[in-house]
Parts: sequence; structure tokens; C-alpha cells
Amino acid sequence: MPEIPDLEGYCAYFNKRLPGLEVTQAQVVIPIVVRASREEFADALGGRTLAEMRRVGKYLLFPFDAGPYLVVHAMLTGRFQYSDPSERKRAKTAFVLSLENGKELRYFDDRLMGKAYLAAECDFAAKVPRWSEMGPDAMSDDLTDERFRQRLSRYRGQIKNVLTTEQCVAGIGNAYSDEVLFEAGIHPYRRRSELPAEAEGRLYRAMRSVFAWATPIVVERMEREGLPSDHYRDHLRVHRRGGQPCPRCGASITEITAGQRITNFCRHCQT
Ligand SMILES: [Zn+2]
Repeated sequence: MPEIPDLEGYCAYFNKRLPGLEVTQAQVVIPIVVRASREEFADALGGRTLAEMRRVGKYLLFPFDAGPYLVVHAMLTGRFQYSDPSERKRAKTAFVLSLENGKELRYFDDRLMGKAYLAAECDFAAKVPRWSEMGPDAMSDDLTDERFRQRLSRYRGQIKNVLTTEQCVAGIGNAYSDEVLFEAGIHPYRRRSELPAEAEGRLYRAMRSVFAWATPIVVERMEREGLPSDHYRDHLRVHRRGGQPCPRCGASITEITAGQRITNFCRHCQT
């Protein structure tokens, strides 16, 4: 699942390349992903000029010189390609924007769980399901330490589940929640209701510092190596590192798979 650093990576990459370019054609390839008809999509975006995009939570917002935004939630497996038309189109390509510079912006999604919406900025709450229930972005200036703890206080369950609940704080997924909890020294299955205030303050600082650390790494790699078909995650310290030594204490990193989620943590450092 793309998370804050991955999505910021897309923003940085595309904002170097896309603003000012006209969309010569907007094509829906797989309708289930695009919550607009083929005709609506083509009419709304064709002939428009791309402006600077941004991220809110796990949504990517593509604005244009006029008309609605293209709003994309990539869910688990949505990815982008910025390529020449001659490059092989991936099997699950859901929509394609042809650009005046001859390139194509493509969105593909192996599990087709992501969604793309057309919505005016004033209309996000009405057109984008769950938009209005979304909590503040994990990196937003408005999310102070105090507000973060107020958000957490509504939830009592396991802290990893709370952190990845979009209605609580937006933008954190399975991989980076492991990193944030490692940074904070908190066990992922610890109940929120059992955390002392001091640990919640640590969690807030860990959340901010992990994203501040990881985002430039991903931005730089995307610029250097191009858009990944998976995500750039080798800089992570515990996630997907089960059995390897903890970078802090050297103990073996624990890996627990529940449902489809892999959780990694250090039993020694995270209490
Ligand atoms: Zn450790």
C-alpha cells in the first residue's frame, strides 16, 4: 500500500514533470476503478492543463486549470507509470492520460481495489466516499501533539490498528506503522487505552520523525531510479525484516502474520 513517503514521492516526481502540460486525451481502460463514465472522464479531463498535485492522507489530488480534480486512492496495489506510448501497458492499467509532450500518465492496479474520482474541491465530501470521516493528515501542521492525543483517545484497541485507522490519523499504513512503533519503542499489540500519556507523546514525535526521515529517501530514489513497480522500502528498519537483527539491540526481529498483514517488531526494544 502506498503510504506517505511513497505518495510524496509521486507528488515530487510528477510536479517536476506535469504542471503546465495539456491532457490531449483521457481514457478509462478499466471502468471499475474510475467512478465516472468513459465519456465523463474524457470530457472532464481532455484539453485541461495539469497543475501542481498534492497529497492528503492516502489520496492524491490532481488539479487542472479548470474543471474537477482527479482524486486517486491507490488502496493496496495501485501504482503509476509515466512512459512513452510505445512502452508495454501493464495488464491492469485502469486509466491513461495522454499528454501534449507525447508521454502517458498511466494508473495500474493489480487487485483493482483503488479508486479514481472526479470532484470539484468544494465537492470532495459528497463525491469521495469516506473523505469527510478522514482524520487529520499525519504530517499536517494542524496536528499538534495535543490534538494527536485527543484523536487517539477515541480508540481503545491495539495501537498498530489505531495508527492505521484513517478516521484517526490519515496516511499511515501497515509498513510505516511498524517503523513508527519501532521508533517510539512501543509494542504494536499494546492497547491504546493502556498507554501512558508520555508514550503517546513519544508516538507523536516518532510518527513525525519517521516520515520526515523516509520521505526524502523515497523522493530521491524515485527521481534517480524512476517510478517503482513496487515501493522503495529497503531503508525500513523492522518492517519485512523478520529474523534479522534489530538495528538497535541486535535481537532477532519478530514477524507475525495475521490476516493479510505482516507485523514486525523487536520484542526487546518495544514494550
Ligand atoms: Zn531491539
